Amino acid sequence: MLIGGEWRQAAAGEEIEVVNPATEAAIGSVPAGAQADVELAVATAKRAFPAWAATDVEQRAHVLAKAATLIEEHAADLAATLTAEQGKPIAEARGEVTHLAHGVRYYAEAATKVRGAHQELPSALGPAYGMVIRRPMGVCAAITPYNFPLTLLGTKVAPALASGNTVVAKPASTTPLATLEVARLFAEAGVPDGVLNVVTGRGAEIGDVLVGHPDVRRVAFTGETATGRHIVSIAGPALKRVTLELGGSDPVIVCADADVDAAVKAVIIGRYWNAGQACLGCKRVFIEDAVYDDFVSQLVERVGRYEPGDGTVKAEKPRLRMGPIHKRSARDELVEQLEDGVAHGGEVLIGGGTGGHQKGWFLDPAVVAEPGDGSRLVTEEVFGPVLPVFRFTDFDDALRRANDTPYGLGSSIWTHDVRRIHRAAQEIDAGMTWVNQIHYGYDELPFGGVKDSGFGKEHGLEALDSYVELKSVVVGGLQ
Ligand code: NAD
Repeated sequence: MLIGGEWRQAAAGEEIEVVNPATEAAIGSVPAGAQADVELAVATAKRAFPAWAATDVEQRAHVLAKAATLIEEHAADLAATLTAEQGKPIAEARGEVTHLAHGVRYYAEAATKVRGAHQELPSALGPAYGMVIRRPMGVCAAITPYNFPLTLLGTKVAPALASGNTVVAKPASTTPLATLEVARLFAEAGVPDGVLNVVTGRGAEIGDVLVGHPDVRRVAFTGETATGRHIVSIAGPALKRVTLELGGSDPVIVCADADVDAAVKAVIIGRYWNAGQACLGCKRVFIEDAVYDDFVSQLVERVGRYEPGDGTVKAEKPRLRMGPIHKRSARDELVEQLEDGVAHGGEVLIGGGTGGHQKGWFLDPAVVAEPGDGSRLVTEEVFGPVLPVFRFTDFDDALRRANDTPYGLGSSIWTHDVRRIHRAAQEIDAGMTWVNQIHYGYDELPFGGVKDSGFGKEHGLEALDSYVELKSVVVGGLQ
């Protein structure tokens, strides 16, 4: 753990083993934090807050920019750690590190551009004017999941620090190592001791203490919807500011006039990147009758190129490496969801097997045609490389089915028909709609869901709003 610039063992002394999901070998261990560790981290962050908030904004921006540069310089090592603990192929891990550096630099550049407002006021109570100023909030908790441990850390830590807050980060217990390396780089960049702290441990054991701590004013959470609900039950009564980036079941609508080749390539990345363990992803694809056969045959052909295996070893071209599922329980749940899809009339067009590996939690990427609307592949989030595909003939019906989910994170449409684009943008209940584009979370645009996908925004200048309190100041005595 990193608390107040010191690397510490847990107060209770217990360690959590970190396991490579491809080999099941232990690759390290981290302290299993307990209540005392969280309390120390929060107290340390609270002490560090006034000085960091008062630090010249250009200095804060400079330190963040330096952190981005150090992340780029250490990209190879960070990616290797990420692959070992998370399982993703090394090229994908490099992509995640690059995205992290980009996001941190984005907020380094944004830090000096935060503005308030001036307001003329009626003079009935005497001449006065108003100002709207932005004040940092204090200690922020940053809680991250196992699928993109680094980018999701960056989307919380960078805007928090840029706006003058201090942070206690809690990575998933199975992916703490790359997070700790990044925290070390922030320290090397000049982030003062106590401004960024990392407490390792199990969410079920220390999460409530962190979220419920009276000195934590802001909670940024990414993870499962069920965990998000639990967090709100603790943070809500304490009236904390919370953003929740939760699960998703993004629909994709491929129309008859679509560039099928481009759509297939985007869906491949959108569903099978990170072995499908992505919140934003192509999770249900609706294809118009006229291009259904073409789309599905290209899709199945491309999915067949994947070779699940150890992310550190490249597949031989034209094969593509896919990493393991991060947790055995998650892999087993995917198999159950797949079986449920078949029980509801779905036809497995490719994949779904788990064999052929001595060790590791692998699943052959799958495509399932037409599982019934009541199947778990439709009603639940599918957090892995299993893709249901559906034929549609009526666009209204496709829109209705796209919205027929508790989730509302991303969505996309593939067409050049401006009326359909307009309708998708207006009518799909989601935080984002991509048009003829891959589901990718740009640092520049606000990102977040509706319905069971949560609330609040990360990314973009808008994310800075949730790390400051607006305060109105009325200045009188002018005459
Ligand atoms: P998870 O909810 O199990 O864990 C996320 C984090 O919460 C971990 O750090 C965990 O230790 C912690 N946690 C667990 N119990 C807690 C508690 N009581 N209090 C505080 N923290 C607690 O999620 P996961 O399985 O690691 O991640 C996968 C999920 O995350 C999927 O549902 C996925 O869609 C979602 N996700 C969403 C986004 C998004 O931006 N919307 C991005 C990535 C992942």
